Amino acid sequence: MALYNTRALVIKSINLSESDRLVTFMTENQGKVKCVAKGARKVKNRFWGALEPMSLIHLIYFGKEHQSLFRLNHCDIIESFQTIRDDFDKLYTGVYFLDLIDSMILEGHREKKIFALLYQSLAALNQQTELEPLRRLFEIRLLSLSGYAPQLEHCVLCKSLPENGMIAFSYAHNGILCNACSNRARIDIQFSTGTRNYIKKLLDVEIKTCERLKFPKSQTDKIEKVTHRLILSHLGRELKSYPFIKNMAEFSC
Ligand SMILES: [Zn+2]
Repeated sequence: MALYNTRALVIKSINLSESDRLVTFMTENQGKVKCVAKGARKVKNRFWGALEPMSLIHLIYFGKEHQSLFRLNHCDIIESFQTIRDDFDKLYTGVYFLDLIDSMILEGHREKKIFALLYQSLAALNQQTELEPLRRLFEIRLLSLSGYAPQLEHCVLCKSLPENGMIAFSYAHNGILCNACSNRARIDIQFSTGTRNYIKKLLDVEIKTCERLKFPKSQTDKIEKVTHRLILSHLGRELKSYPFIKNMAEFSC
């Protein structure tokens, strides 16, 4: 039996029985982990209040190595990101980030950079008011950390550099196409060099200052059509939380 001691973000918490909850965490050291929280549904339980999705906690859990379900032993809240919970637009965005992590990351995939991406993105969401760059940044970086970074430097098929003017992109090949290759592969979307440069910046800008990358209105849809569509083609489905973000955006226009 091993005891694990780590910082973690709460991804999901569901009822397991009349008194217990099943909680999914993104831990700093062990990747995505599922734990049974005994008695967590009872009001006076020691875990009460610390297992809300998005909270950063100090977590202690135990179980056999290589098993898929662990037992929660102790948790303390480090940061609850209350500002996110008080604003619907931020809340839906945060829930979308958690959904993406839950759908794209397998248990046992120990990658500290994924914990760091989620933690820094929630901290930025707590602070920032311009959320569009952060949403696109999260999508493209999660794809990249999962090994699905799109090829934006040169043609994905023949490696030649893009010509001036509009750039063709293929979702199936996950990259840009030169003029010659555009004739033999399906073009899904075309965008300007400016759009390509914004997407490249999303891959290396500091997360806490990403709202300074204000997308011009004309670029916002195009950038989403690349990063969000890549998520869709990778997952093969839309996430339940995403339409809420779209509805909020239309409501505020
Ligand atoms: Zn080519």
